[in-house]
Amino acid sequence: MVIATPSRRDVLQFTAGAGALPWLAACASATGDELGVEMPELRAVGQPMPQGVPLPETPPLAKSEDSVGFAIVGLGDYALRQMMPRFVNARRAHIAAVVTGNAEKGDIIGAAYGVPEDARYSYENFAEIAEDDRVDAVYIVLPSGLHMEWTEKAFAAGKHVLCEKPMALSSAECERMIAAAEQAHRKLMIAYRCHFEPFNLRAMELMRAQAVGDIRVIRTDQHYRAGPATPAQNWRLSRALGGQGPLEDYGIYGVQSALYLSGEMPESIVARAYRPKDDPRFSEIAAYVGTLMQFPSGAVAQLSTSYDSAGSNRAVVRGTGGTLTMSPATSYTGNRMTLDTGTAEILEPGDPTVQFAGQLDHLADAIRDDIAVRTSGEMGLRDVRLMEAIYLSAAEDRIISMNPDGTMKG
Ligand code: NAD
Repeated sequence: MVIATPSRRDVLQFTAGAGALPWLAACASATGDELGVEMPELRAVGQPMPQGVPLPETPPLAKSEDSVGFAIVGLGDYALRQMMPRFVNARRAHIAAVVTGNAEKGDIIGAAYGVPEDARYSYENFAEIAEDDRVDAVYIVLPSGLHMEWTEKAFAAGKHVLCEKPMALSSAECERMIAAAEQAHRKLMIAYRCHFEPFNLRAMELMRAQAVGDIRVIRTDQHYRAGPATPAQNWRLSRALGGQGPLEDYGIYGVQSALYLSGEMPESIVARAYRPKDDPRFSEIAAYVGTLMQFPSGAVAQLSTSYDSAGSNRAVVRGTGGTLTMSPATSYTGNRMTLDTGTAEILEPGDPTVQFAGQLDHLADAIRDDIAVRTSGEMGLRDVRLMEAIYLSAAEDRIISMNPDGTMKG
């Protein structure tokens, strides 16, 4: 355990002058020891069963002969409350195995989902999954800092991979994951569910059809207040497992929206980050990140995300001929969207909950029919590169010029 070094934990100034962001600059590449902060162990460990998890009354079974069997790695909130209950709606995907560090939880969940006892794996015996023909793909729903390690393990076992967002916490990790997929000749998909969600798909179509005219400004907001916790209690607050701030886990929706709504890649990025003083939640990460992206067309995107302000999940596109407002923009359910070109029209393009089965079936189709994955590892890498540029801009208080592939110029 390492004791905090006060000089490295100085508050970030939102309106920083040159060199006023030493803490974030140090974070960009330093280890816990160098930073003088307590880092949790970077390995998969079992967690208690979350409260009030819904369990299926009858196990959701494979619906087709060529249904793709998924092993779910990490039985936490998102897996148990959102994704696993939605397999019942997939036409070509089913749950074939679970992987957890909590055997008791694995048995309760395994029994409820019809997973045979010999398909309930631990983090220790995971490599045995290589011999298990019931499993075609591994779905990684672990804390983000573990995505690369478990993606590599899954490819080493000869399986395809669906990996939760963010793909990983650095572009170097993403590159390793892409290389591992290529070496294994297996598919790698990032679980960007909004690419299968009717409101976001319709918004993309509308923007390509110039429904608001020429896009001038995109604004995105992803905010909530994290409860009282330390990094050891909540992995999202831990630099090793969650990243440098709210951008990786929540603000990433704003980054994605800005790109798929504008249809462009930024040519420059300038950003600010803020870390409040003496708040145990933010001993390792920033509480707020604000970003300005400039696109080649002249459009700008203003992205704002935090773990310490009242909830918001919103995207607004303002063009020369109107405004598209999405709020909530990227929710699991209940998305809302208004197009105002003089008169406001409420759009209801479909049921948002189809996004979950949609992404599962997409990977299943990609595997069985050998088609390209819509939300590829390259897309995940691109976004992580942009996030690196955002944090670097905040740390060094400068505008970063970007290449079209998301790498930084110079
Ligand atoms: P969670 O804390 O509820 O669950 C994480 C699970 O990972 C734990 O229950 C545990 O089973 C396992 N785990 C293994 N090693 C661990 C460790 N060292 N520390 C903590 N847990 C460990 O988190 P979550 O909300 O389910 O998020 C998991 C992943 O899913 C993250 O990558 C997150 O970004 C992603 N996610 C995606 C969405 C989405 O809408 N696509 C929503 C929420 C979460």
